[in-house]
Amino acid sequence: MTDRRAALTETFMQALRDRTPQEDEFHQAVEEVVYDTITVEKNDPAFARARVLDRLSEPDRVVAFRVVWEDDTGAIQINRAWRVQTSNAIGPYKGGLRFHPTVNPSVLKFLGFEQVFKNALTGLPLGGGKGGSDFDPKGRSDAEIMRFCHALMAELCKYIGPDHDVPAGDINVGTREIGYLFGAYKQHRGQFHGALTGKGPSFGGSAMRVEATGYGLVYFAGHMLAQQNREKDGLRVAVSGAGNVATHAAEEALAQGAKVVSLSDSGGALVAEEGMSQDHINWVRQAKASGQGLDDAPDGLRYNAGAQPWGAVEAELLLPCATQNELDRDALQDAIDAGAKMIAEGANMPLTGGAVKLAQQKGLVHAPGKASNAGGVAISGLEMSQNAHGQYLSAETVRSRLKDIMGNIHQTVLAEADPRNGVPDYRQGANIAGYRKVAQAISAFGAI
Ligand code: GLU
Repeated sequence: MTDRRAALTETFMQALRDRTPQEDEFHQAVEEVVYDTITVEKNDPAFARARVLDRLSEPDRVVAFRVVWEDDTGAIQINRAWRVQTSNAIGPYKGGLRFHPTVNPSVLKFLGFEQVFKNALTGLPLGGGKGGSDFDPKGRSDAEIMRFCHALMAELCKYIGPDHDVPAGDINVGTREIGYLFGAYKQHRGQFHGALTGKGPSFGGSAMRVEATGYGLVYFAGHMLAQQNREKDGLRVAVSGAGNVATHAAEEALAQGAKVVSLSDSGGALVAEEGMSQDHINWVRQAKASGQGLDDAPDGLRYNAGAQPWGAVEAELLLPCATQNELDRDALQDAIDAGAKMIAEGANMPLTGGAVKLAQQKGLVHAPGKASNAGGVAISGLEMSQNAHGQYLSAETVRSRLKDIMGNIHQTVLAEADPRNGVPDYRQGANIAGYRKVAQAISAFGAI
C-alpha cells in the first residue's frame, strides 16, 4: 500500500516538476497533499475519472501584471504582481495578498493551492487563491505604501469582485493596506461591495478579523492538547514571528494561562524564560508598527540577534507563525531537545520537508496550517456574508463562531487522521478532509 502510494506520488510529482520547473515551494505543497490523497483519488471511480489532483495542481489562471508607482523622491518604481486563482469549485476564489521581496509565482501557487484545502475545511463556501507583489514595504513611508496600493489595485480591480475573487491580507498587508486597496477598488469600479476582507470596521470589516488567525490557532491547539490529555495551564509555548498572527496567538495563549516564551523577527529571537506579559506583547507590536527591530527589549526579555526561537528556550508547544520553511530539520531537533512535543502551524507551510519527517518519526503531534490557521479566512468568510446581508455581528458572536469553527475543523480533521507513532496524523486528516470536499464538487461538474 505504502509502496503503491509512494510510486503514484512520484509519477505525479515527476510530471508536475517537468511542466513547472523551478517552482520548489509549489512542488513541496503539492507533494504533501498528493502523498496523503492519491490513493483516495485512485480508489474512488468518480474522483479518479475527474483527475481532481491534476486539475487542482494547475491553477484556473494566473494573472501577472506590472505595478508602476512614484516614490517620495519622485522616482518611478516598478514592481511585479500576480493573482493566482487556483480553484472556485466550492465558492469564489479567496485568499490573501502578500507584499514581500520573496513573492514569486511559485510561492503564490503554493499558497493558493494550500488555501483551497484550508478554505474547504472551514465549512464555508470559499474557493482558493492568493496574490501579492515583490514590493518590499520595509523603510517605505505611509504615502509610498498608499501610492503602491492604489497603483496595484488600478489593475487588480479588473479581476476581482464579491462573487468572483475576494482578496484579503497576508504578510505585510493589514488593515491599513486593505483600506488603501479598498479605496482604490471603489474608485475604479464605482461600486461599494465586499470585494476585499479585512476591511476597517467603519466600511464593512468584521469584528475580530484582525485577531482571528492567532486566536483561532490557540483554540485549535487547545483541542489538540485536550485530545492528548495535556493541560494548558503553565504550558510553555514558543511562538515565532512578530506580526499579526504571532502577536495574537501569543496574546490568546497568555490569556488561557500558558507561558509564552518567545517571539521573533527576521533579525533574531526574543526569549522570555519566565514567560511574556501582555505589556511585552504590546511592546513588540509597537516596535514593529514603528518599523523598529526587537533588539532594544524591555526587562524580562532577552534578544538573541541572528537566532531563531527553536531550542533557545524550553517549550512543549511550538507555534511557528512567521513564514514558509522557517523551521528546518536541525532547528526542530534543537526544539525537541528543549522539550517540544506538539506543533500547531500559524504560518503557511512553516516546516521544511525534512522537519515534517522528523516530527513524524519522533511522534510529535503536528497540525498543518491549513487546519490550525484557518481561523483568519473563516472570519473573512463571515465578513463576506455580513457584507452581502448588510448586517453585522458583535465581537462576542464572532468570537463564539470562531471557536465553533475551529472545534469543527479539529473534529473533521481528526475523523480522517490515522494514528501514526501513537498520535493522530493531523496532516493526513486535513489533506483528506479538504480533498474530499473539493473533489465531490469537481467530480460533479463533468469535464469542464
Ligand atoms: N492570508 C490568510 C491565510 O493565509 C487569510 C486569507 C483570507 O482571509 O482570505 O489564510
